[in-house]
Amino acid sequence: MKKLIVGNWKMHLDVPGSSLLIARVQHEIKGGSSAVVVVCPSFTSLFACHRELQAYKEPKMVLGAQNVSQFEEGEYTGEVSATQLKGLVRYVIIGHSQRRLYYSETDEQISKKISQALRYKLKPILCVGETLKQRHDKLATQTVLDQLDEDLDMVTATDLGKIAIAYEPIWAIGTGEFAKPAQVEEMVQLIFDVLRQKFGEEAAQKVRILYGGSVDDQNSTTYLALPHVSGLLVGGASLNYRKFAKIINNLG
Ligand code: PEP
Repeated sequence: MKKLIVGNWKMHLDVPGSSLLIARVQHEIKGGSSAVVVVCPSFTSLFACHRELQAYKEPKMVLGAQNVSQFEEGEYTGEVSATQLKGLVRYVIIGHSQRRLYYSETDEQISKKISQALRYKLKPILCVGETLKQRHDKLATQTVLDQLDEDLDMVTATDLGKIAIAYEPIWAIGTGEFAKPAQVEEMVQLIFDVLRQKFGEEAAQKVRILYGGSVDDQNSTTYLALPHVSGLLVGGASLNYRKFAKIINNLG
């Protein structure tokens, strides 16, 4: 299985800046990379990035969105639905901790968003992870278990292969305090075990489990070498085309 490297640009870059970053990453990534590369610009930049990628004979990345509505369509001002994203992106980040935290997104909503994404053939990248307090209180494992339980509530074993799960400890996001490999290994093993219990061995083997949290070109290979880690979710470093491309090119 190819590794999945996802760049989350968050609320950065205007339309020309996004197109330029796509062009730079495209140029910097070596051909024949053994990774599936996904970049997730803001909604406002998706169309321009889509056009930019169409201009290449061999685009080296595909697009993802950073969020999707739990609803199909209608009176939901400011929301963007899976039907609107279909055709523009292949992936969608769902349940990022910044959405859980700043927009009070609940597991119930996240579960509905996953359903919407799957319905329109978008691949969800589900984010789970604990706060520093939860870790200190020895609640990290329970937090992730609860999130998985509720978020995957409507998912079937057949759908599971279309989903990636990113373990992102909240204390490691944007802080430079990346998680220790042993901490990641423990949590990723737990996620794998839960999937195996819930959906069976064969379905669980098809899921990509990613690590995210202050990943850069210096620490990426350490995480990718861990058992069951089949990709990375990269925030800050994905805005630097040299660093992001190095993470991908390091894979050989
Ligand atoms: C993220 O936004 O999901 C993330 C992991 O950010 P950073 O790499 O900057 O910690």
